[in-house]
Amino acid sequence: TGRAPLGNGRIGNPGGLVVPEIKFTKLFINGRFVDNVSGQTFDTRDPRTGDVLATIAEADKDDLDLAVKNAREAFDHGPWPRMSGYERARIMTKFADLVEAFIEELAALDTADAGKTLSMGKAVDIPAAVQIMRYYAGAADKLHGQPLKMNQDTQGYTLKDPIGVVGHIIPWNYPTMMFFLKNAPALAAGCTMVVKPAEQTPLSALFYAHLARMAGVPDGVVNVVPGFGPTAGAAVSSHMDVDSVSFTGSQEVGRAIMRAAAQSNLKNVSLELGGKSPVIIFDDADVDMAVSLSQLACFTNKGEICVATSRVYVQEGIYDALVKKIVEAAREWRFDTKANMGPQVDKKQFERVLKYIDLGKREGATLLTGGKTNGDKGYYIQPTIFLDVREDMNIAQDELFGPVMALMKFKTVDEAIQKANCTKYGLAAGIVTKELNLANTVSRSIRAGAVWVNCYFGFDPDAPFGGYKMSGFGKDRGVLAIDQYLKAKTVNTAIPNSPWY
Ligand code: NAD
Repeated sequence: TGRAPLGNGRIGNPGGLVVPEIKFTKLFINGRFVDNVSGQTFDTRDPRTGDVLATIAEADKDDLDLAVKNAREAFDHGPWPRMSGYERARIMTKFADLVEAFIEELAALDTADAGKTLSMGKAVDIPAAVQIMRYYAGAADKLHGQPLKMNQDTQGYTLKDPIGVVGHIIPWNYPTMMFFLKNAPALAAGCTMVVKPAEQTPLSALFYAHLARMAGVPDGVVNVVPGFGPTAGAAVSSHMDVDSVSFTGSQEVGRAIMRAAAQSNLKNVSLELGGKSPVIIFDDADVDMAVSLSQLACFTNKGEICVATSRVYVQEGIYDALVKKIVEAAREWRFDTKANMGPQVDKKQFERVLKYIDLGKREGATLLTGGKTNGDKGYYIQPTIFLDVREDMNIAQDELFGPVMALMKFKTVDEAIQKANCTKYGLAAGIVTKELNLANTVSRSIRAGAVWVNCYFGFDPDAPFGGYKMSGFGKDRGVLAIDQYLKAKTVNTAIPNSPWY
């Protein structure tokens, strides 16, 4: 039939979803789906059941060499970097339209591959990806150099050249959004690219390659090569013919990518390495708003989100009222046919989060709710809340990447700032207060790339996003992100009658 039902609305099947036929399992190089050199394959699994979803051609170094060679050829001799920004924008817009047209199928793919809820794909991830593509399409014909004030003898200006062949190594938590956050600004700039999706979630990236071709993106511009990190990923970051690499994922791999870049051709690097984001709730906060904001921000996408508010600091005056309500709210998350929470992406992540929950208990924190798996199949973990967490505990310092919240009390504004800043990360932070002056003061003192006041996930295509401290450097989103894909070239021309003549 081409459609395989994978559940009947039982636990383990968020949304009672039917998974679409999986059409693309080969590598996408130079505008076509091709076999890999070694013939090796790997399985991608459905985290709702643990069952194999599809068997994928596994790219390794030889395939990466081929993908980069084609991307290089497309950059050095192909039309994409040479066509007008307007023409690139036209194709990018068509690409965005196609993503929108296939939203049902794409959302189903990410749900089955990454354990997302269907509604998240349909209402958040895919519309955001479409918007990001359209935003950067709008920028493609507005990339200017600038005139330079030189001297009497020469006149100068800068040109903004595309940086070249770019490598994108992307994680599994937002397979769709990450694909577009990295690729859309690179396309606008006129770069060609090699995309290495996460081994856990290769399916939607391969579908996007197909849509890129349908939209008219020339051969060799977008290449998608699924495979594992130490082989396919490392081949991207160490490649002599890749000019820039953009990565989102763990700190450890971020370091490996920087090392590989340094030891190969000193390519440009940008890194988004997650966080341990705090939300600070002050005494004057609207309790209901604070409750829904902090638990949404922690449990959305089952906590597999780089800006998850895994540390919630509550001022002592409203602490008791808030704790009571937040526990009630945490118990309302559903895993059944009306699920608003899916399973962890794979067994490794599932076991990692459970290990941290156990560690939290052993470190002396009080488990207030959750902490257990949910269902007999699939990688489901209940929303979990710890009380009495100290800053020196691992659960207060490490990125858990699961639905686990640490609740902590504070007295003064200074104490809240000091505690919020006390991890090695600096990706995002939330503040809940009605006092504008307090919000502005605290915002300035938080060392994080994004501060959201009386809201969370304040993402917008136009708002640059990226970390401070060990959360990385470089930006996704905003005009600033395109700069990572451009090189400024200075052209300086001698004026007639100058001493040069
Ligand atoms: P990871 O960093 O190992 O994987 C992310 C991507 O990097 C994948 O595409 C992977 O194949 C690739 N990769 C792995 N090793 C590589 C190497 N040596 N060279 C080049 N590429 C390589 O992440 P993970 O192991 O899947 O998850 C572990 C932890 O990382 C999570 O628990 C979470 O804390 C963090 N993480 C953060 C984000 C984020 O959005 N910042 C996303 C995913 C994971």
